[in-house]
Amino acid sequence: MKYKISVIEGDGIGPEVVGSALKVLSRVITKYNVDLEIVKTPAGDDAFKKFGEAVPESSWKEIKSSHAILKGPVGETAGEVVVKIRRGLDLFANIRPARNYPNVDSLKKNVDLIIVRENTEDVYIRAENEISEGVTVALRLITKKGSERIGRVAYEFAKQRRKKVTIVHKANVLTLTDGLFKNTIKELKASYPEVEVDEEYIDSAVMDLVRRPERFDVIVTTNLYGDILSDLAAYITGSIGLAPSGNIGEDKAMFEPVHGAAFDIAGKNIANPTAMLFCTGWMLQWLGEKYKDENARKAGISIENAVLTVLSKKDYLTEDLGGHTKTTEFTEAVLSLL
Ligand code: ATP
Repeated sequence: MKYKISVIEGDGIGPEVVGSALKVLSRVITKYNVDLEIVKTPAGDDAFKKFGEAVPESSWKEIKSSHAILKGPVGETAGEVVVKIRRGLDLFANIRPARNYPNVDSLKKNVDLIIVRENTEDVYIRAENEISEGVTVALRLITKKGSERIGRVAYEFAKQRRKKVTIVHKANVLTLTDGLFKNTIKELKASYPEVEVDEEYIDSAVMDLVRRPERFDVIVTTNLYGDILSDLAAYITGSIGLAPSGNIGEDKAMFEPVHGAAFDIAGKNIANPTAMLFCTGWMLQWLGEKYKDENARKAGISIENAVLTVLSKKDYLTEDLGGHTKTTEFTEAVLSLL
């Protein structure tokens, strides 16, 4: 099987962390004999300056015909880029794992959870209006179909983990929209007898994420709540530079770090490439599972294990984790294990 992968280098620290990812990717595909074509597809602030569009038509054509997309962080135009790709390819499930790592100081211990965020509905449909001067409204879309398919993703993850799904919502205020989301996912429980399901209001869930994160296994939630919760989840495990995310649809998937373009540290060779490297490993594992390709799966796992090994050596921590290791040094350490 030959895979086509679109790579978006992005802005700020994007080219540095994507550069690290491509070095590692190229090493493992050779080692595990994975046939993979990499197509660089400009998108983001730089692309906007050059082509007048955050996702130029030529990039969009390549992206649409790719098996998967590896996306670096994008600056000001991040919203345009991700919404176009997520909605255009119907990547309805945004998966954000958060966990502790050995030797990495973290705000909280006992974090091992996955946030399953609905990715195509809610206020992200961007239907805002000024109905009269000084009066604005935003529409919020929640559908039974959308809630059901994201609910199934959450139960499937839970089956492989600690078998618990927590539905996060605010149905006491948004009775129709969040009510539909919550009830639809609760009804699915009948098909997953081994999975326990409970629910929590978003305000209380935010508090619990800091107070007792061990309470959560799989959190399933709507687009906006998921956006906010997952940044916090990444932060309590040490650094936003560690957290990968997957945007997964029926046929295609895009993998991107949770962090943004971080212009404050761009070009200094100090960005932590961990999140981007985890994305790369995850992408190969996803391809491996989807196309029943054991080599791709093994190649993905080898990246994940190498990154975990490097992270566990205290002498290889980047600045965001209190160390002095440069982006390129971290990458070399990962490569040396592959
Ligand atoms: P956005 O507005 O798109 O969320 P941002 O660049 O303002 O992006 P974040 O990515 O959320 O902000 O990151 C906040 C800060 O965390 C950055 O300014 C940077 O100092 C730090 N940071 C983010 N990613 C990394 C990374 N990979 N390595 C090291 N530090 C990082």
